[in-house]
Amino acid sequence: MRLLLAEDETHAGQYLVKGLTENGLAVDWVRSGDEALHLALQGNHDLIVLDVGLPGMSGWEVLRALRPQCRTPVLFLTARDGVEDRVKGLELGADDYLVKPFAFSELLARVRALLRRGKSSEPDQLELGDLVVHQMRRRVERAGQRIDLTAKEYGLLTLLLRRQGEILSRTLIAEQVWDMNFDSDTNVVEVAVRRLRAKIDDPFADKLIHTVRGFGYVMELRP
Ligand code: CA
Repeated sequence: MRLLLAEDETHAGQYLVKGLTENGLAVDWVRSGDEALHLALQGNHDLIVLDVGLPGMSGWEVLRALRPQCRTPVLFLTARDGVEDRVKGLELGADDYLVKPFAFSELLARVRALLRRGKSSEPDQLELGDLVVHQMRRRVERAGQRIDLTAKEYGLLTLLLRRQGEILSRTLIAEQVWDMNFDSDTNVVEVAVRRLRAKIDDPFADKLIHTVRGFGYVMELRP
């Protein structure tokens, strides 16, 4: 899952990027409305967290320019706890809002709720053979045994599972699971895949993650 965060305050931005990343989400952080609009229109994000008070274009102007051409869910952050502000945001097509200051846990709960809503066509459960991922509970099981994964391992596994049968390049995996500015040091991907395999493949006879030499990985059942 990839988020676009528009927040001009350095401290707040760093704090949110750290928290969201630790929870398995990839975050592109921009500090102005213009950059937010530019990136949002590329349509590569599952959710936009938009501060209203931004330099250049305000959050409201970004929202107005974004809708209706882009339906990516928007959670806006406002410093004022006024009914008018909230109504304005929702009328402009935002999906939810938070009033600053807020607890990080509340932001995360709303982010997750919006991501679930956005993917409502996607089943809660991802499966391949005897491997099952319950996305709401973030629970992974293989042959009935529970497997504990780190946030990155979980992000990697769900990406491979959602696109099972499709060969995914190391660069694509790096972009989706790590940060966009991640350069071509795909060794990080290899290390993460090795760790994931140790947990979900090594203890079992049938392997699910396969290496496509010189390109990337594919997750599928092979006879
Ligand atoms: Ca601000």
